[in-house]
Amino acid sequence: MPRSNSAELITLRVNIVKELRSKWKRERERNPYINEHFGGFVNELLHEILEKDEFLKHYAPFLSEEGCTRDTLYIKDSKENKVTEIHFNEEKLRCSLCQSSTCFHVQFAMATPRVAKLNIRNQQADQEIEVDGQQVRKLTNNKRRKSTISRK
Ligand SMILES: [Zn+2]
Repeated sequence: MPRSNSAELITLRVNIVKELRSKWKRERERNPYINEHFGGFVNELLHEILEKDEFLKHYAPFLSEEGCTRDTLYIKDSKENKVTEIHFNEEKLRCSLCQSSTCFHVQFAMATPRVAKLNIRNQQADQEIEVDGQQVRKLTNNKRRKSTISRK
């Protein structure tokens, strides 16, 4: 396949390519303006992510991601000089600083790529546990119950 001089070859994981390809097909069915070349589509998608990062810097220059654990996204608010915790609870994001699901911090969190990990990572963990068997599942559920209690 011919490549332009400004192109660089990179390796993508097989499962990522599969997911990207099905996303590309789905979007092309809905929108005729989606790039007809798979490579072009992937490049545009990545470029949009970079543009979104730039947009967030302008939209909320005083907010930044401080990190992420299994169930918490940490966002630094340099106006308030505080770090807030965003949790995913009962199908809603919740800000510990404002005790709100609609504040600016939640809006910011929603626009970050890491927000998806709050939910999806837990689901993946559950699937892996399923494969390991019921015994492990019981232990983990007990642990999870304890950590839920201690968090409140
Ligand atoms: Zn908030």
